[in-house]
Amino acid sequence: MEKPIFRFAPSPNGYLHLGHALSALENKRLAEQTAGSLLLRIDDIDLSRARPEFELAISEDLAWLGIEFDGPTRRQSDHLTDYQEALDTLKDEGLAYPAFMSRAEIRDHVSAAEAAGDSWPRDPDGAPHYPGVDRELEESERIVRIAAGAPYSWRLDMAAALSRVSTPIHWLESGAGPNGETGQVVANPNLWGDAILARRDAPASYHLSVVVDDAVQGISDVVRGRDLFHATSIHRLLQELLGLPVPHYHHHRLLLDADGRKLSKSREDTSIRDLKSAGLSPADVIRLIN
Ligand code: GLU
Repeated sequence: MEKPIFRFAPSPNGYLHLGHALSALENKRLAEQTAGSLLLRIDDIDLSRARPEFELAISEDLAWLGIEFDGPTRRQSDHLTDYQEALDTLKDEGLAYPAFMSRAEIRDHVSAAEAAGDSWPRDPDGAPHYPGVDRELEESERIVRIAAGAPYSWRLDMAAALSRVSTPIHWLESGAGPNGETGQVVANPNLWGDAILARRDAPASYHLSVVVDDAVQGISDVVRGRDLFHATSIHRLLQELLGLPVPHYHHHRLLLDADGRKLSKSREDTSIRDLKSAGLSPADVIRLIN
């Protein structure tokens, strides 16, 4: 059997907190248990938020925790052409369309529909599904708008995409989803509507870059927090559409704050750095997680 390959893939837009440490340690534990290797990937596709000082701090904090990585680190910003190629494949297949609506326009469209009594679906992150208006635009109208400099992102035509693959799509889950889903899980990409593939200000969305990276790095086992469980549905669909290999998935428990919310960098929950400067040892930090 091939040696399993795991990865830990933090985004360098803040300091690592206890939730990241849990994820990195879960990857390390499972890699050790299976004599697999563990790779580090820097998920800096969101170029507007990624900062080199956070990337450096992440490496230092992981080393301090005693987590070592095999092989070279992959940094997404070094591989933008890989994502462009994947996007081009989807465009050539007629599965991606330029989406011109701004956030405010989407919000207004959805509020108007809701005011008229329609219910509007939300994706698992709570964002309203993208309205179908731009999907129906004539090609000539798209060309005119783009030539006039209108900003746009790229979206997946979900209905067209689903008609190209044999459904249901599955994945093998050895952790669990929010409702205890485990074993052979049926993907439900429809949850995401016309998912985003590339943003106005970033060359690829998280969903597109993560499936490309996992394939390029030969990842056999994706171990990450349960908050990304539903994202796996859209990742599986993209893998089918792009002909990419399918890793096994393990979604682990999340660490919650006193109010029951997931720890987050944006709310500046206690970072590994702070714990270290407060005098805790790596063993103390690991105890806090367990
Ligand atoms: N970069 C993502 C994050 O920090 C994780 C990506 C993944 O594990 O698929 O939340």
